[in-house]
Amino acid sequence: MIEEEAEPEPRVSTKIIGITGGIGSGKSTVSKYIEEAGFPVYYSDIRAKTIVNDNTQLQQQIKELLGENAYDSSGLYDRKYVSKMIFEDEEILLKLNSLIHPAVKIDFENWVTQQSSVFVFKETALLFELKLNESCYKSILVTADDNCRLKRVMDRDDKTYREVEAVMNKQMPEKDKIKFADFVIFNNDGLEELKENTLQVINDLKESLK
Ligand code: ATP
Repeated sequence: MIEEEAEPEPRVSTKIIGITGGIGSGKSTVSKYIEEAGFPVYYSDIRAKTIVNDNTQLQQQIKELLGENAYDSSGLYDRKYVSKMIFEDEEILLKLNSLIHPAVKIDFENWVTQQSSVFVFKETALLFELKLNESCYKSILVTADDNCRLKRVMDRDDKTYREVEAVMNKQMPEKDKIKFADFVIFNNDGLEELKENTLQVINDLKESLK
């Protein structure tokens, strides 16, 4: 008897979902709820902080751009020193980003290959600014009124109104981000509502595959 060859399982392609929002919007909180629901989340900012220390090629490029002092005596990225250089020279910031962003992109792509979930999420403050949404299946914007975000960040980081406002003013306005987003989670209310709305978006994403 000839044994029938089993049909290969069709490979389900991974769907990347971008999560974004301005300072204090609640994107990290939403990402935690998504992780709790069983989905993997890549935190771009946290990964970038690791990569500047772990990726030797990037380390070399940063030293070429900013000098050896970009790393301290124990070989760790000197955030304070770099921040000062960036603050004084916008062009250096652009050059530094042109080194870090591609390295994060490669790191993310490697990370995706290690995930077995259909949906994988990427949290980044710059989803629309860097057009990263173009390589996403869907995008989620977490947003809240400016005053609400200001107060939350002042409480969280012990920062002044002016300090938070300065960061906010440099970011893409929320009203522009809304135009690009597939899902918008408004986060002016409590955490319970935020969780509920996040779970609703997860449901909608699942439905979108049917
Ligand atoms: P950042 O861009 O600054 O990293 P974020 O968008 O990741 O901020 P979170 O860190 O999730 O924002 O939220 C900012 C602060 O507000 C946190 O301390 C968080 O616990 C708090 N927060 C978020 N949403 C709510 C809410 N609905 N009610 C009360 N506090 C909230």
